[in-house]
Amino acid sequence: MSTDNLHFDISKHKDYLYVIKENISLVHPVYTNDPLNIYLLLGSHTALLLDTGCGLSPLKPIVDELIGTRKLLVFNTHYHWDHPLGNVEFGEVYIHENEVDNVSKPYDVSFFKDSPNEIVKIYAEQNYLIPPAKVIKPLKDGDVFDLGEIEVKVIHCPGHSLGSICLLTSTGELFTSDVAYYGDTFLPTKDKFPKVLNSLSKLINLCENQKDLELYPSHRNYPCDTTLLIDLYKGIQNIENLWDTKKPFDFFEAWEITDSSGKFKYYISRS
Ligand SMILES: [Zn+2]
Ligand SMILES: [Zn+2]
Repeated sequence: MSTDNLHFDISKHKDYLYVIKENISLVHPVYTNDPLNIYLLLGSHTALLLDTGCGLSPLKPIVDELIGTRKLLVFNTHYHWDHPLGNVEFGEVYIHENEVDNVSKPYDVSFFKDSPNEIVKIYAEQNYLIPPAKVIKPLKDGDVFDLGEIEVKVIHCPGHSLGSICLLTSTGELFTSDVAYYGDTFLPTKDKFPKVLNSLSKLINLCENQKDLELYPSHRNYPCDTTLLIDLYKGIQNIENLWDTKKPFDFFEAWEITDSSGKFKYYISRS
């Protein structure tokens, strides 16, 4: 089944997994990681929505139609603007405990004031302050949720952000959020790379223990396999060797480095 929607591209990937895609370049052309993948898992009695997207078009009616009478849980993979701005449509959302504060207040998107794209009017009408969900609940590493025939385990993977989480399902999917995808990769300052690599090793180990895991990143292509994690791990390790080629990219207040493999472009935070 495919639900028609002008803003979101909705597809049924498996009996129990829908992918709702949103193009974030609509907001500002500097964002090239299209699409954002919002995932909807359907257990027998509970559904789980992973991220609520950019808040540009109603998402809840689509989700309500797809989940039927199931209870709904809403998780944010992390607090970066392209993932939680639809939270206000849902009464209650979860996010890792490190980022509860980031999504508990109106989200300031005034950095989009100069965007050349017309759709930004939707943010301007809200004075560039996007309201939060009413109730924000904290997630911790190791939390398990039973959706009915599918169990979901939270894996804390700090690095891309302090509260980034990945999700491992009992049905063999690993949702890698922004911790790993092919494309423009946002990294913290160099001194925090050990944290990023540590989170990636954690995921690589999971894949070694469970060879048939499928990886579902929050941006661009899916499913991927463990090669994605290994490519990214090696790529980040190699950044030191490419350090002299860095260029400033002011919109992101970052250093830009193009990976020699062509699979990633890194934006490394300057502060
Ligand atoms: Zn992010
Ligand atoms: Zn993102």
